[in-house]
Amino acid sequence: MEEYSDKLKQKFMRAALAEAMKAGDAGEVPIGAVIVQNGKIIARGKNERETKKDPAAHAEVVAIRKAGKKLDRWNLCDCDLFVTLEPCVMCSGAIIYSRIRSVYFGADDLRFGCCGTIMNLVQDQRFNHRASVEGGILKEECLEPIRGFFRDRRKEGKRKFE
Ligand SMILES: [Zn+2]
Repeated sequence: MEEYSDKLKQKFMRAALAEAMKAGDAGEVPIGAVIVQNGKIIARGKNERETKKDPAAHAEVVAIRKAGKKLDRWNLCDCDLFVTLEPCVMCSGAIIYSRIRSVYFGADDLRFGCCGTIMNLVQDQRFNHRASVEGGILKEECLEPIRGFFRDRRKEGKRKFE
């Protein structure tokens, strides 16, 4: 696991949060991600499910695809992912397939989290790749925009995001 200081982890999580806010402004569930290589952000992603009408356009997948393009390779074994919400089953799969080294997430996802909450796919011994995981980075700051999003939706009586 790359040794990041707490300050650096928070800095990268704040960059992921900035992406989350952009997603929120576009009417998406506010989730954002960045990918870091050699201490630098090389790709950013935000949830674009509604905008792109794409069920796979989660922030992590968007960022992983961009990182692959940028590095001109699919193997991201020297890269770390920072994401505001614990990755789901699909994104955990993408983390395994892209060989991401470490996953840092903000809030736990009690309903879909697959980096320790519902299950821990990225550390399952049966797969040939495992990522290190650290959750809880800027947890409250990451969770609040998501809570706010669903609060507003419920107020509007829209149930399609539930
Ligand atoms: Zn996901």
